[in-house]
Amino acid sequence: MMRFDDFQLSDALLTGIKEIGFEEPSPIQEKCIPAVLRGEDVIGQAQTGTGKTAAFGIPVLESVDMELRDVQALILTPTRELAIQVSEELSRISRFKKVRTLPIYGGQPMGRQIKALQQGVQVVIGTPGRLLDHLRRGTLKMHNVNTVVLDEADEMLDMGFIEDIEQVLSYSPEQRQLLLFSATMPPAIRQLATKYMRKPRYITMNRGEVHVPQINQIYYRVLENSKLDALCRFLDSEEVDLAIIFCRTKKGVDELAEALAARGYLSGGLHGDLQQEQRDRVMGSFRNGDLELLVATDVAARGIDVGSVSHVINFDIPQDVESYVHRIGRTGRAGRAGVALTLVTPRELKQLRLIEKETGARLQPRELPSLEEIAAKQQKSWMTQIEGVIQSDADLKLFEDMITQLKEQFSENKIAAAALYVAFSERFTRSQDQSYNFGETGAAPGMVRFFINVGRNTNMRPQELSKAISEQAGITTRQVGKINIYDRFSFVEVPEEVAPFVYEALRQSRINGARVNLEPARPRVRS
Ligand code: ADP
Ligand code: MG
Repeated sequence: MMRFDDFQLSDALLTGIKEIGFEEPSPIQEKCIPAVLRGEDVIGQAQTGTGKTAAFGIPVLESVDMELRDVQALILTPTRELAIQVSEELSRISRFKKVRTLPIYGGQPMGRQIKALQQGVQVVIGTPGRLLDHLRRGTLKMHNVNTVVLDEADEMLDMGFIEDIEQVLSYSPEQRQLLLFSATMPPAIRQLATKYMRKPRYITMNRGEVHVPQINQIYYRVLENSKLDALCRFLDSEEVDLAIIFCRTKKGVDELAEALAARGYLSGGLHGDLQQEQRDRVMGSFRNGDLELLVATDVAARGIDVGSVSHVINFDIPQDVESYVHRIGRTGRAGRAGVALTLVTPRELKQLRLIEKETGARLQPRELPSLEEIAAKQQKSWMTQIEGVIQSDADLKLFEDMITQLKEQFSENKIAAAALYVAFSERFTRSQDQSYNFGETGAAPGMVRFFINVGRNTNMRPQELSKAISEQAGITTRQVGKINIYDRFSFVEVPEEVAPFVYEALRQSRINGARVNLEPARPRVRS
């Protein structure tokens, strides 16, 4: 394990690093810092939260010549939030070296930025568009820039900044060092690298070294119309500190934030249609703990860096693997353990498998928390609510009359318990999804029987069939019921609540290498 002392940094920087509390370099820092100090062009790829800022920040700050009052390094970031964050991290690191850093972004008056630039800034961090404005006006000069950094390069390309980036680069001296950092490496980034970098050193964290193990990745099987209930059950049974909940669309964000607020959760929504002012307000409340749930789209969540996010919840499964990696990187930061929960509908099981395959991670299936589990956590709060009503002057007459009537048949204890059940167990009615009505399949009660078009002819044995079902549908082999294998076909029974998942996962799939069709069985004909 390397130490920061091993990099031969100046004492002033080392003191700064110690002061922040970084004990040892993260894996990406260990590899990048020496290469950047040697002046190499570097492509650094590692998941969000792995310390990429300091990986380029430390060597860039080390190289600043304090005698020179010109801009010596330029850092491009996709959003203003990130520009501010990077700038803050750099000024903390260089607190003793006293490098002059400045964030520059759209939405702030040009005049103020021009004045600040004139005071002799040495490292500028900014969004591509605004940087370009200053370069064109000549208020930002690049003749003494040694290093250009593209931070969160994948996000910048996603946001359509490619032309601005190329323009900015065209202002930079030919001999400059170019660094590129990114959580993912889509082809457009490789192209950019080939075009502008000299013999780039490609530093990537192989799977064992990224922070993924810090994040406990789990998923729930849910039906489309029971997602909200599933989410609430999870929230009620977990110690959720701060959670970011991802939805696919802006409308989804609005609806979910509202539904959660209506159920009494401290939640707020964040998406691209909101005014900057509203976004700042929501983010502010989230940061200081007034909100515990932030519902957001992928775009709106860009650049959010809140240290203590305990849970990332994919209310809608992400549409690509990159976005999954970005989302879950919002939790488990700086060594803290985090939980990433993904809700998966039957049709989304295949997408889940793809994510597992491409990230090399294994998402653990979890059963939805039961009423007992939620009660264990909520009992106190339920009892407080009841005591509160008893001690208040709420008018209970209406309800007391009901009790008088019920008492003719039941004990007071039974009545009270039933009333609590009505009040607190609304999340436990099992919802049905009409699109998965398999009809009468000849199964035992509570089960669904499926027909599979292969049998002994593909050498399939019951253990293999049950293992394939369990793996592909994310259920336990114990949940797989009766299996009958014949020469050219088979039958299998599974519990009703998992049947939609078994159906979607296996209706067109492979078992033992053989193509398989699975469909609801027809009831047995009685002879
Ligand atoms: P990335 O850019 O890879 O997403 P950041 O650079 O934003 O990650 O770092 C994530 C968090 O980890 C930040 O809060 C940062 O201060 C912290 N961090 C970075 N390097 C270290 C380190 N060596 N030791 C402890 N914490 C670190
Ligand atoms: Mg970063």
